[in-house]
Amino acid sequence: MPYFDYNATAPIRPEALAAVVEAMQSVGNASSMHHPGRQAAHRVDAARRQLANLLGCSPGEIIFTSGATEANNLALRAAFTAGSPLITSPVEHPAVLETARAVTVRSPEDLVLLPVGGDGLVELDALDQVFAVRRGGMVSLMAANNETGVLTDLRVVAKAAREAGALVHTDATQLIGRLPVDVAELDVDLLSLSAHKFGGPQGVGALYVRRGSPLPHRPLLVGGGQERGWRAGTLNVAGIIGTGAAAEAAARGLGEEAERVAALRDRLECLVAGALPGCRINGRRDQRLPGVTSITFPGVPADAVLAAMPDVAASEGSACASGAPTPSHVLLAMGLSRADADSTIRFSLGYATTDAEIEYAAQAVKRAVTQVRAALAEADG
Ligand code: PMP
Repeated sequence: MPYFDYNATAPIRPEALAAVVEAMQSVGNASSMHHPGRQAAHRVDAARRQLANLLGCSPGEIIFTSGATEANNLALRAAFTAGSPLITSPVEHPAVLETARAVTVRSPEDLVLLPVGGDGLVELDALDQVFAVRRGGMVSLMAANNETGVLTDLRVVAKAAREAGALVHTDATQLIGRLPVDVAELDVDLLSLSAHKFGGPQGVGALYVRRGSPLPHRPLLVGGGQERGWRAGTLNVAGIIGTGAAAEAAARGLGEEAERVAALRDRLECLVAGALPGCRINGRRDQRLPGVTSITFPGVPADAVLAAMPDVAASEGSACASGAPTPSHVLLAMGLSRADADSTIRFSLGYATTDAEIEYAAQAVKRAVTQVRAALAEADG
């Protein structure tokens, strides 16, 4: 089945699958002192180095978690102090937005949402205006949007935040393993990621904490003191080893792979736009992830289009919010009407996407949209 939902989850990479299966065949708690325990700890260390290589950081700057949701919670809950601003944006993933709302529930004036343009870019000039009135606190802005792929210029964020004495966190869940990254260059204090977005197993993520960053030690989970006291609980040894294998595989030729995926995405957009004039691509096109396109088909409900092409796995708005019949908060924040937001489909591609899948999907979308339009016209007539 042509798979176009890499932003929800990517297929596990063969290297990661093999590593997980192999790891699950060995016994060993990474905290135990005997030989199997030491062996497990040793392999976790190797995986930590593999992930650190993908990020350009040192292994000691990584805290393994259960995913990006936990990493975002840990970052925001540790860094936020009532009375200081928590600056974020309305297009963040709920894992940031809901955490930001939760920590500021007793001091709502501390939550500052920056404006977003029609192109999906957060208006970073507004940061200086906020800092002119209130200094310190923290900024949390996503590196790449999960629905549109729009990228944030984190260096601009970091520069403004440093001058104002604020910590910088980024939810980089959609960026890591999709474009080459060097966290030192990004100059952020904290960065969240999730392994399953780059071909690792689900249920494993990490928070990068820059060495020397003045983050108060406030773990979410206390207990056995694992992860240098930042995240108690027996390590998910097999998941972490699979994450390391996926990170190593993703890092290999990442620049060329990003170009290949961008060319496939551009081809899909070109075929769809050529076949269905009137459709609109959402988000700043020259500042996006390579593998994502968000396309609005005005007047054509996305759920009907998706139902008319059951053999193509794409998603309506954000898959993370699926189940709830609410329109995409990201598209609404960009100024789309509710009707247009409900007529938008996200296609997300990745390392295993082929030319043939693109050709197939373009044909399927053309047929499905035409079919839904005809059914609507008939119902109207
Ligand atoms: N942040 C972003 C930008 C995401 O796309 C996702 C996954 N949809 C998450 C956080 C949450 O990741 P996880 O479900 O793996 O915790």
